[in-house]
Amino acid sequence: MQARAPPSYMKRFQRQLVEGKVYALSNFMVWTKMKCYMACRNGLMIYMGGQTVVDEISDGTDSSIPLHSFEFVDFGNVPSRNRDNSLFTDVIGQIVSIEEEGQAWKSGEASRNISFRNLHLRDLRGRPMLVTLYGDLGRNFDAEKVVKQGREVSIVAVFAGMLVQLYNGIGFTVRSTSASKYYLDLDILEVQELRTSLADRHKPIDCLPCQLQNLINPTELVDSRRTIEQLKSLNPHELHSRTKFLCIVTLKGINCTKDWWYEGCFHCNWPISWDGSKPLCIKGCPNNQLPVPLYKLDAVMQDATGTMNIMIFDKPVKKLVGVSAEELVEDTAGEQISAVISSHHQSRALLVGPTEGDSW
Ligand SMILES: [Zn+2]
Repeated sequence: MQARAPPSYMKRFQRQLVEGKVYALSNFMVWTKMKCYMACRNGLMIYMGGQTVVDEISDGTDSSIPLHSFEFVDFGNVPSRNRDNSLFTDVIGQIVSIEEEGQAWKSGEASRNISFRNLHLRDLRGRPMLVTLYGDLGRNFDAEKVVKQGREVSIVAVFAGMLVQLYNGIGFTVRSTSASKYYLDLDILEVQELRTSLADRHKPIDCLPCQLQNLINPTELVDSRRTIEQLKSLNPHELHSRTKFLCIVTLKGINCTKDWWYEGCFHCNWPISWDGSKPLCIKGCPNNQLPVPLYKLDAVMQDATGTMNIMIFDKPVKKLVGVSAEELVEDTAGEQISAVISSHHQSRALLVGPTEGDSW
């Protein structure tokens, strides 16, 4: 069962509770679980508070209590956990290769470059899975040591408290969160099983350069600033797919004569086509979810040099409007969507690029 402490008692419990030790807890509440970020499948959870008493048990009566508990997701089922943050994802696999640390541009409330490290795993059946460790988790991963150990024996890793995300051009990835932790060659049954089955297929771990760097240098971003006039005179045949430009514009209005939303793939946001009653993602994602309504606004943007129609897809529109397309689609006509959006910020800096997508 998951136990939770409010922020005001967090420091105290962090001091009192050490992973791997056994405690008797008393004076806590039991209540229904939270809607998201649960580490185990249980309808209830423990709420610890100021009155909760923590007593360490160290007389050996604890030997029957397992020190670790994971809910491993089969590699084949990882796609079905995409965007599902109700439950964290735990995976287990043999480390096949380790990439060097990379940097990626993360857009959001505070856009910045963040560091990451990719690890390639395989499971019992040899199926591959990419794991991304962000920030300190990736930085502190002792790749050199793991590679050295991996020369003699297979290294089996457990990643806990992870989420699944689909990245453009990369695929379904098990990525770390602030709650994530990894364990190498842990003494549990699942690790032993995987190890035994891999014993006769041992291969040293490969060290790879970071295969996808998506770094944006803030200075370069400023250098990439273009006016609408300059954007209009670009030659599309000379552009690289990942070229990004910065353009400061005012949103003049929405072209309401066209649809402002479309049915997109739950996983990747690309359009879907219908095969009878079955939704098919045009990118070929596994179809385990119904499509979702997503924004596609034909927006008229203006700066001192001219005006331009810019198609804005889902994510930035959600930021402008404050609600998802799904919430508006039921009872909002074309003209109303324009009013809803005009009532928000009049100007925004938009990062535009030929394939500015969902990823990173
Ligand atoms: Zn898709």
